Amino acid sequence: MIDKKQFYINGQWVDPIKPNDLEVINPSNEEACAIISLGDSADTDSAVDAANNAFSSWSKTLKEERINLIERLYEIYKSRWNDMAESISEEMGAPLDWANQEQSSSGAEHIKNFIKTLKKFEFESLFDEESDNHIVYEPIGVCALITPWNWPINQITLKVIPALAAGCTMVLKPSEIAPLSGMVFAEMIHEAGFPSGVFNLVNGNGEGVGTQLSSHPKIDMVSFTGSTRAGKLITKNSADTIKRVCLELGGKGGNIIFADSDPDAVRRGVKHVMGNSGQSCNHPTRMLVERSIYERAVKEAAEQAKQTKVDLASKKGDHIGPVVSKVQYDKIQNLIHSGIKEGANLVAGGLDRPEGLNKGYFVKPTIFSDVTNNMTIAREEIFGPVLSMIPFETEEEAIAITNDTEYGLTNYVQTQDKEKAKRVAKQLRSGGVEMNGTGVSGGTPFGGFRQSGNGREGGKWGLEEYLEVKAISGWK
Ligand code: NAD
Repeated sequence: MIDKKQFYINGQWVDPIKPNDLEVINPSNEEACAIISLGDSADTDSAVDAANNAFSSWSKTLKEERINLIERLYEIYKSRWNDMAESISEEMGAPLDWANQEQSSSGAEHIKNFIKTLKKFEFESLFDEESDNHIVYEPIGVCALITPWNWPINQITLKVIPALAAGCTMVLKPSEIAPLSGMVFAEMIHEAGFPSGVFNLVNGNGEGVGTQLSSHPKIDMVSFTGSTRAGKLITKNSADTIKRVCLELGGKGGNIIFADSDPDAVRRGVKHVMGNSGQSCNHPTRMLVERSIYERAVKEAAEQAKQTKVDLASKKGDHIGPVVSKVQYDKIQNLIHSGIKEGANLVAGGLDRPEGLNKGYFVKPTIFSDVTNNMTIAREEIFGPVLSMIPFETEEEAIAITNDTEYGLTNYVQTQDKEKAKRVAKQLRSGGVEMNGTGVSGGTPFGGFRQSGNGREGGKWGLEEYLEVKAISGWK
């Protein structure tokens, strides 16, 4: 059993002030693979104090010093790529090859992209030629970074790297369900030689460390990724101290497939939903298909789901793994049950584990057709390998159905008519629109409208979240 009970505070690994052990469960076999500690307010205070003490010198470092340290971190990250992939695979069930190619690589990509952004970013500039005003960007202060279990290192690097780049100091609280990757990352930070107190890590749960950080008077900003439920609580808990709160929450993306889409559009959409065992906030989980090709699309989607292999995370090859926990497994089963009960047509997958897998939180790749947008499976984020297919007649109807949700993270459009694609994309109420299978590039802004959140991560937008803007007059 791996012992990971310590926290990283003020440049050192330290014991929790009071023992409070939590087992990390490997979702492929339901067995404990490590033990961590859940911190309490004394641990949180100690990390927040360390970050506050480090702020005055770190915030004054030159941009070049920060670039050098982040570049060193990038080299260390690449040398420990496999350690990162293995810890993610074990803690949240991503198959090893996927963890290597998608999860571990996402961290490396974000570090690389933020180095590029930081090199280009001007922290000081003239307001305009006529005035003598000067604009200065300054680090916001001490940040609490609260991250989820579904893309653990993706989310950690999307927050920690811009915070470091901006000159902020921070306390990271990784998900208590998938904390191991965060601890490997803390080892890398230590090895890179960041000054003590700039980066701190305390493990804990939402009611404990998460709430203590959100309401802490010595924290200036909270950046959170996770459920809309927790996002609301964090917003309320931070209100008394008027923190900046940046939220990246859930999604219920629509994937509009017109009759003139490319021949691979349906299968591509299904593969996208099944990837990471369906545990991504930006997945296209509602597939809207033009009526004239609906029947063919349902057949293709069902075939694709049946071809999706499910197996242990430790096995090599092209398959999906389990979902992260018993809680998530039960939630997904309940939602599949609600789809059946509310009259959707189950064309692939369904309740219970796939054949041959009697242990572990494995879910059958599931497709529902004839879904209406008011059914629970079309409204709630399922966070499992489950797709809802909805027919539509007209462009206007497709846009209206897609926008009829509390969320607004990423939507998708498939048509070979470029003008139609652009026209539709502009009318979709979401932070991103992906067209015809072209993914967004690293360094573009990622975030949501409405209950999908209020911030943007990545590139200069992600860096600016950690900065205050100051206008100074009389400069010349
Ligand atoms: P969660 O939101 O409860 O947990 C995410 C992180 O927030 C964890 O670090 C957790 O400890 C922390 N947290 C929880 N409650 C908190 C609080 N009150 N204050 C401060 N921090 C808090 O996610 P979950 O319960 O593990 O998953 C539930 C659902 O959330 C999923 O089914 C899925 O729909 C959604 N989810 C979305 C994302 C995303 O990327 N948008 C990620 C994970 C989960």
